[in-house]
Amino acid sequence: MDDLKFGTRNKRGDFSPNGRLEGAPLFVWPPKPLKLISWIPSYFLPWNLLFLAFGAVLWFYATPAKETLAVYDWHWIAYLLIRNAAIVFVLYGALELRLYVKRAQGNRFKFNGLFPADRKSDVFWFGSQNLDNILRSFGTGVPIWTAYEVVMLHLWAIGWGPWTTFEAHPWALVLLGLAVPMIHETHFFCIHWLIHQGPLYKWVHSVHHNSVNPSPWSSLSMHPVEHLLYWSDVLIHLVLPSHPLLVLYHLQVTGTGAVVGHIGFDKIETGEDSGFKTQAYAHYLHHKYFEVNYSDGLMPFDRLFGTWHDGTKDGDAAMQARFAKKKARLNAKAGNTPN
Ligand SMILES: [Zn+2]
Ligand SMILES: [Zn+2]
Repeated sequence: MDDLKFGTRNKRGDFSPNGRLEGAPLFVWPPKPLKLISWIPSYFLPWNLLFLAFGAVLWFYATPAKETLAVYDWHWIAYLLIRNAAIVFVLYGALELRLYVKRAQGNRFKFNGLFPADRKSDVFWFGSQNLDNILRSFGTGVPIWTAYEVVMLHLWAIGWGPWTTFEAHPWALVLLGLAVPMIHETHFFCIHWLIHQGPLYKWVHSVHHNSVNPSPWSSLSMHPVEHLLYWSDVLIHLVLPSHPLLVLYHLQVTGTGAVVGHIGFDKIETGEDSGFKTQAYAHYLHHKYFEVNYSDGLMPFDRLFGTWHDGTKDGDAAMQARFAKKKARLNAKAGNTPN
């Protein structure tokens, strides 16, 4: 596929898609009904529907019975841990293998022309981004994800919380299911902005940002404190009437879904002349510029707070102006302003 029909490549080999990253037309004024209708399929495809399918398969075929979950026991806890690790290993591993190991589409559609494996860096454990990312993901990421899952399923099994059933409240559960990605992004925007502040960035979130040129393995490569915050959005199911199927779906959106922003390619080619958009660009720009796109544009917060980078030259100029203002403010605070 000729990626230059869809974007441009600079001297360093970095690909930028044409057009402007707009974010979802969900919370815009005045409303844009036609845009909204044409946007709806991208809310489900390819990702959220895939994560819903994962959640449903886990619930119907790969989650222990209620009686089992009612009593903490290391057998089923270990089973859930291995199950989650396997999902991450297979999905992230498949993307890594195809795009980064076999380099099946070279650097076509690749935002950063370089591949992380070609560069050693001291910021990573053993000087390797991949090894560092993998150890952090499986060392604390998947265990903390599983811990949330264990507690939530156990609380459902013992009837602690406002749980309901699809028979009793079908529409309430469907609405909650539809809102899960929005709940996730609202929560993520808040905690993500928070850990970009002062010492929290230095001690916690900088670990994730070491991967300036992310790959799928970077998705869950975080400090354990970030892991704890990251999955806490699932606690909403102890506040709103819910069902464990939605908990599993939600954990898929948050856990497995972290990969979306870290694919590093704008399109994944599926044939000579076909491919699908990854929706990874907004978060790639976050890894590149740090203080932009705290969320991916589904919710309006970045646009409201002026931190949205739409991937264009105008977006760049707005970001530079904001950074210059911030620098001036910090200099003034430190008493460095020229007289
Ligand atoms: Zn990231
Ligand atoms: Zn960040």
